[in-house]
Amino acid sequence: MQLSDFPRVKLAHLPTPLEHMPRLSEHLAGPDIYVKRDDCTGLATGGNKTRKLEFSMGEAMAEGADTIITVGAIQSNHVRQTAAAACKLGMACEVMLEHRIQRPSKTYTSSGNIFLDRIFGANLREYPAGTDFDAEMEVVAAEVRESGGIPYFVPGGASNTIGALGYVDCGIELLKQFAEQGLNIDHIVTATGSAGTHAGLAVGLRGSGSDLPILGIGVNAAQDVQEERVYKLAVETSELVGTPGCVERDDIIADCNYIGPGYGEPTESMNEAVLMLARYEGLLFDPVYSGKALAGMIDYIRQGRFTQGQNIVFLHTGGSVGLFAYADSLTL
Ligand SMILES: *Cc1c(COP(=O)(O)O)cnc(C)c1O
Repeated sequence: MQLSDFPRVKLAHLPTPLEHMPRLSEHLAGPDIYVKRDDCTGLATGGNKTRKLEFSMGEAMAEGADTIITVGAIQSNHVRQTAAAACKLGMACEVMLEHRIQRPSKTYTSSGNIFLDRIFGANLREYPAGTDFDAEMEVVAAEVRESGGIPYFVPGGASNTIGALGYVDCGIELLKQFAEQGLNIDHIVTATGSAGTHAGLAVGLRGSGSDLPILGIGVNAAQDVQEERVYKLAVETSELVGTPGCVERDDIIADCNYIGPGYGEPTESMNEAVLMLARYEGLLFDPVYSGKALAGMIDYIRQGRFTQGQNIVFLHTGGSVGLFAYADSLTL
């Protein structure tokens, strides 16, 4: 795999730390749990989109674009990191925000990520749930061109093959850290949403000859839909990096039993997980993605599906800024 063939801009603090969580491991009395700190990527409070944006923004620069167009939920971590990256590279940022949760509070629509999007001066446009964003993107792109700009579209979550390269790189980085720290890891757990993180990781690991299992915990779609989405993107990404066929359908597992009422809607198990990680490890996670993924991992440990003697890595994908938007809906 030759990632150096792709245009890339430096946005993230890499490598991110890989740390043991001794108090959490002891509390749950199961496997030893490690955390890969992709919440520490550095850009605008960090998160997983920064790795992807190194490649997306690299391509935008290579194409001579001066305006980024992207899309996400009102509390999108992706939009926040994209808006910051555009500032850093001297580009304008047009954002299409989708209202995806039921009866949002005033805090949800004004605090957390959207507050930071405004600080970064992104031009925010709001749309109802279910909008056809492919069509809207064309409308926005035409507007940008009309006023003399050169648009570049970054899809939701930066989850196309270019963005997924960021997580191919993370997979390679993890294998290096396991070797350096002398760790024998049995499983990686990550939240899986727009699929680029999960797909990229799968390609990074399998393309490097590692058969380490990855458990994705879904946050929006049903299992078959999510697994197909990840698998399709992994296949395309493996072709892009020159390791076609390295990921098999069976490599892609998404457990979608921890979503609760829907995307971005709080659950009791997420609430418990966020407080547990804060109070045992001093770590902040997020209510939409990593909190639900942690809830899944904790449940697997309680069910004895991850056991003592194993070593588990939880990929912290960031997003704690979103906690502020949920100040009214978490039970403390
Ligand atoms: C976007 C996001 C994810 C999901 O990553 P995908 O590549 O979209 O699957 C997980 N956690 C956080 C905090 C995110 O912002």
